Amino acid sequence: MKVLLGVTGGIAAYKAANLVRAFVKRGDEVRVVMTRGAQEFITPLTLQILSENRVGVDLWDATFESEIGHIDLARWPDVILVAPATAHVIAKLANGMADDLLTTLLLATTSPVVIAPAMNTQMYLHPRVQANMKLLRDELGYSLVTPDAGELACKEVGPGRLPDPPILLAGADRAVRPQVLAGKKVLVTAGPTREHIDPARFISNPSSGKMGYALAEQAFLLGAQVTLVSGPSALDAPVGVERVSVTTAQQMFDAVTSRAAEQDYIVKAAAVADWRPVDPSEKKRSKSDMSGVLELTRNPDILATLGEQYGPGSAGDGPIIIGFAAESHDVEERGVAKLARKKAHWLVANKIGGATSSFGSSESSASLIYHEPGREIRRFGPALKQEIAGQIWRAIAAG
Ligand code: C5P
Repeated sequence: MKVLLGVTGGIAAYKAANLVRAFVKRGDEVRVVMTRGAQEFITPLTLQILSENRVGVDLWDATFESEIGHIDLARWPDVILVAPATAHVIAKLANGMADDLLTTLLLATTSPVVIAPAMNTQMYLHPRVQANMKLLRDELGYSLVTPDAGELACKEVGPGRLPDPPILLAGADRAVRPQVLAGKKVLVTAGPTREHIDPARFISNPSSGKMGYALAEQAFLLGAQVTLVSGPSALDAPVGVERVSVTTAQQMFDAVTSRAAEQDYIVKAAAVADWRPVDPSEKKRSKSDMSGVLELTRNPDILATLGEQYGPGSAGDGPIIIGFAAESHDVEERGVAKLARKKAHWLVANKIGGATSSFGSSESSASLIYHEPGREIRRFGPALKQEIAGQIWRAIAAG
């Protein structure tokens, strides 16, 4: 992605160095434009070295203008991110002023613009600043990244901190994606569950959570408000996603069913344990205590419960319920049968084992099966789980 980073003159300008590195590290091409004020906090040379491109500082710099004219520069990026954005630059943009290179570019561009305000809390809360930000969002269609709350450089505590690079990167990523899930609430389940025999032993499965986490991440990037109900997983919660951590199937059942009614879509990508020990012990059992037979009882089937309550046969408008089926063979046939059994709206079937195994691997392929009779199955991949997840959401959002 081609990123034009505008750095303006707040103390958080020093954080632009790490931000540029984060974009470059993941393979983005970065060009930086700095205001005069920004150069009081960090030098253009620093950002030139990190971005591997000359930094634009002056509208009247004939050499820079001959390398890339400011209009060409305005046409160049896939996204423009202003971070940190001062109250002053926000006011200038709200009024259509263009008195330096950055503000001129911003008037001349048709690329999506993301503004990350960072300033003293009282400045941030000032009614004029708030009104200007509202105008940027509502009238100009800019995206705004909410500043973090915390201790600021001025020692005040409140909103105004520039968020860390992953949040700013996600803000830029969101701005370039079609917001097909804007205004939608989605809940995704992911990972395995653990059913304890005693504190040292449990029954589980090899699910890594990668597919569910990819679905949660992509739903956020496509505009949704996302809750991720996750069993134990080594993965970090995706940016912008609220993660609810659970261990057992029963905990997952409670976490999902208590939040179900308010969702637009529920995607059940978790590998839920079907059975749990009848009599888990609070204390570790000694080998001599164990008979070699473990008595099990069925866990509740979360998907079937949701299907019963909200599925296509149910009355009223509830969430659309989308199941998953990881199968080792006859993937689509078994998926079709499972969809009918679980009474979900749709179901994503994918394969366990083989080159595009759905357990633990980064790649997968998937088939989206619809409950509507005669509707064609949609097939995705093989591709990275992120890519598949984005395609699944686009298909879901299309209805
Ligand atoms: O029955 P099976 O486990 O093969 O079905 C897989 C689908 O059902 C997945 O969407 C999974 O999250 C869901 N499931 C569930 N509760 C269970 C078992 C499976 O929600 N107890």
